[in-house]
Amino acid sequence: MQYKVVVLSGDGIGPEVMAEALKVLRAVGKKRMLDFDFKEGLIGGIAIDTHDTALPEETLSLCRDSDAVLLGSIGGPKWDSLPPEERPELGGLLAIRKSLKLFANIRPVKIYKEVKDLCPLAPSQVARGIDILTVRELSGGIYFGKPKKVDSHTGMDTMIYSAEEVEKIARVGFEAAMNRRKKLTSVDKANVLHTSILWRRTVEKVAKEYPEVSVNHMYVDNAAMQLILDPSQFDVILTGNLFGDILSDESAALAGSLGMLPSASLGAEINLFEPSGGSAPDIAGKGIANPIAQILSAAMMLEFSFKDLKSANDIYAAVEKVIASGLRTADLAGGKGHAVSTSAMGDAVAAAIS
Ligand code: NAD
Repeated sequence: MQYKVVVLSGDGIGPEVMAEALKVLRAVGKKRMLDFDFKEGLIGGIAIDTHDTALPEETLSLCRDSDAVLLGSIGGPKWDSLPPEERPELGGLLAIRKSLKLFANIRPVKIYKEVKDLCPLAPSQVARGIDILTVRELSGGIYFGKPKKVDSHTGMDTMIYSAEEVEKIARVGFEAAMNRRKKLTSVDKANVLHTSILWRRTVEKVAKEYPEVSVNHMYVDNAAMQLILDPSQFDVILTGNLFGDILSDESAALAGSLGMLPSASLGAEINLFEPSGGSAPDIAGKGIANPIAQILSAAMMLEFSFKDLKSANDIYAAVEKVIASGLRTADLAGGKGHAVSTSAMGDAVAAAIS
């Protein structure tokens, strides 16, 4: 089976952690006889430096001609003084999401028992387990609604959702719940917002197609509180663009390190996979970044784009094994014991596969 994958390593730690994800994909490819066709493209600061734009047309056409996109991370202080629309974040990341019509962002957050001390919550809360999948609507809501404007007196944004948009993301949430513990919490603000009233009605309607999934609705302010008080109550969190942006970062903090957290953004035709964190300029070039977020993003690509659960599970299991063996990059070592390099962690995960 041949998989055409576009590799966009980007800036900062991006190329360092991407090298390890490709190493692990090659290991799983060898084991499962998968034939990867990796094509490299440019995005972000490195694309600005070479092509004068954060998202060159060549990169977009490479993506459109592939089966999946594996992204590293973009941005850094070198490009921070550019006008916002030219910067890697807006001109690269938001632009590629928009161009590829990515509408669902999926972020799993799981705490591995061997590193549970990194979780900022009390041990009694962590003991009940943390394994949450946030499904966030990515292409609508207040970030994109028109009109929007700002002048010296008024700032205005428009929050708008159609039933069709909500139905589409709700199905992603319910399908994900069916593959997990069959529990879905839909988060809205239906006591105040009209978009949320529509959101809740629509989720109720879609829920009828998934009678095995138990559904509850929660206001976003309460959800933010419950994530801290008792994260074990959540399986799948389904929510809109704005609330998902905030809640997925809040739940990311529970895992203890951004270096462990992958993500997937699903589109109608193509999906994109990337770590939840950024380009980490503070540690870039030192060979100490944790490659696991990028490696798990590659596993999500096998699961969500190629529906190859066996190969994805090889990677998930290899990561668990390596963490259980006690190997730690600096972010996981918490100042205690010996921390291994980015490439040593990648080597260990690749070895655990074969
Ligand atoms: P960041 O996620 O890059 O870093 C936050 C902290 O987490 C840093 O201390 C960093 O060292 C640590 N960290 C992140 N990933 C890690 C890893 N794999 N291993 C070990 N530690 C890790 O966020 P920031 O510092 O706010 O942003 C830095 C740059 O990244 C900015 O230019 C920002 O715009 C950009 N950014 C890009 C993306 C993306 O590419 N998707 C996302 C967020 C931020």
